[in-house]
Amino acid sequence: MSLKIYINGTLFDKQDAKISVYDHGLLYGDGVFEGMRCYAGQVFRLREHLDRLWTSARKIDLTIPISTEEMEMAVNSTLAANDIRDGYIRLIVTRGEGTLGLDPNKCAEAQVIIITDMITLYPDEFYENGLAIVTAKTIRNHPLALDPQIKSLNYLNNILAKIEGLKAGCVEALMLNHEGEVAECTGVNIFIVNAGVLQTPPVSAGVLKGVTRGAVMELAREDGIKVEEVTLTLEDVYAADECFLTGSAAEVVPVREVDGNQIGAGSPGLITRRLTDLYCNLRTQ
Ligand code: PMP
Repeated sequence: MSLKIYINGTLFDKQDAKISVYDHGLLYGDGVFEGMRCYAGQVFRLREHLDRLWTSARKIDLTIPISTEEMEMAVNSTLAANDIRDGYIRLIVTRGEGTLGLDPNKCAEAQVIIITDMITLYPDEFYENGLAIVTAKTIRNHPLALDPQIKSLNYLNNILAKIEGLKAGCVEALMLNHEGEVAECTGVNIFIVNAGVLQTPPVSAGVLKGVTRGAVMELAREDGIKVEEVTLTLEDVYAADECFLTGSAAEVVPVREVDGNQIGAGSPGLITRRLTDLYCNLRTQ
């Protein structure tokens, strides 16, 4: 059976799911998206993802042509049509078909696309031994150039950093902000553990407000772990007792090495393990 893709209210077979080459999503990266997980038939924190999608859209002056309730139903019916209970969901809203010029007002109607698919997970080895990452020279977008809180279809900033990471043999790369502070990795947020305190850069450091980041902070607090959103330098990361990354697809991944510096006494550390277990329970509750 061919995978069914939702485009503007209609389900198409994957090979027939097409949008115009004049779509400004393609021509200019003009659009927004979300990446979500579904566990045992339930989309994890769907409302939070939809809120972020609508916030991203508002920030680029894009009107999503359906309501959040309709989007919720569309996501669930696309999952059902594909019989996916555990998988990955990509929600995309593009500016739509326009002219070859930049003017978004010349675009006819926004395109809403929902792709539900199986997920390719990181190998177990990454979770057991931790990742080695490097700091990219490419910095995170300046908030006054492209607000990193907008999850836009223009991911070149992150892709350039990812290429740097891959060239250094790493699947993730750490990105600093324009002040030289630690921001996040190319597709995941970063946490460190420092003397028993869980620390992560504040959203004002130019990071995406990750849904997994939020869930992990909540879990830590409920578990009596002190959580701080603080400015972090690279030296703070190098000197950390533990380090891990969070994202919808990757969930909680330990980091064992940053720029050749070993983190803590061995990865994953105790708090990383604890939060991984708690996250594992939470996602299927
Ligand atoms: N930062 C960036 C740049 C991302 O693309 C993502 C993935 N969407 C994240 C962080 C993690 O966000 P979430 O936990 O909502 O998946």
